Amino acid sequence: MSKPTPPSGAESLFGRPRSAVARALSRREAVPCPLCRVAPRPFGVDFQGLQLARCATCGLQFQSPRPVFDDLVQAVYGPAYHPPGEHVVDAVRRYQFERQMRWLEEVAAAGRRLLDVGCGSGAFLRFAQARGWEAEGTDVVLTPAAAATGARLWAGQLPSIAFDGRRYHAVRFNHVLEHTQDPLAELRAARALLEPGGVLHVGVPNLAGFTITLKSWQSRLRLKRKRWKHYGALHHLWFFTPRTLARLVEAAGFEVSGWETPVAGRPGRPAWLTAAVRRPLEACRAGGILDLYGR
Ligand SMILES: [Zn+2]
Repeated sequence: MSKPTPPSGAESLFGRPRSAVARALSRREAVPCPLCRVAPRPFGVDFQGLQLARCATCGLQFQSPRPVFDDLVQAVYGPAYHPPGEHVVDAVRRYQFERQMRWLEEVAAAGRRLLDVGCGSGAFLRFAQARGWEAEGTDVVLTPAAAATGARLWAGQLPSIAFDGRRYHAVRFNHVLEHTQDPLAELRAARALLEPGGVLHVGVPNLAGFTITLKSWQSRLRLKRKRWKHYGALHHLWFFTPRTLARLVEAAGFEVSGWETPVAGRPGRPAWLTAAVRRPLEACRAGGILDLYGR
């Protein structure tokens, strides 16, 4: 059973000393593939000693054994998890939100009640409200910044929240599904919450993106000092390609209506450089973000 590497107490992780986080996450649980219900095959150990595994049947990659989920909620998703300024709709977020909103507004013509699963600091709640949506949010730990939006908020993991018959025209998981205990259970719960004709949005890191693929080869060939760091394992429990995410979304009862792979800008990177990278990578669907839409 893998254990985190001896930590340097000075290094910070999710706003806390890495050593404190590592101590709180010493328990491990083995996880079967949520689709195939079989034990996965290990293919790599990341720089922290975390085990990466792949389902031999469907190809889905995930951590197993992984930190116990309840420990993650306690040790990681506290108030310090959300960096200052995360609630602000800056240029980087605006680019992504506007792209996503075009899809939601096109297909969710019937109404404008939206649920943002894992709403974090509430940046998208704020953005959606400004676009005329009635936005509500959930999170395992609700933040004061999300509460400040005035949106109705629900605490907990989606499958365990009692919504009292409430329904939505759009349900959104933006960089949330890869953090969840059971992504199939989350998507099935989302399915049950949607109005007829409602739309699902799932945004995750794109494991098949150009940069991530390059770093994975460097990790396999032991050319990287911090192997598999780009997976973000620890709080990222699941790692999706367009194919494996589509399979999961379909297993939850959705039909995939489309997907794209935006390239995120980076604060401080010149706009011309972002534009130059964006054009070719987005055109050949090799950008670092995977945004998938379903109905
Ligand atoms: Zn599988």
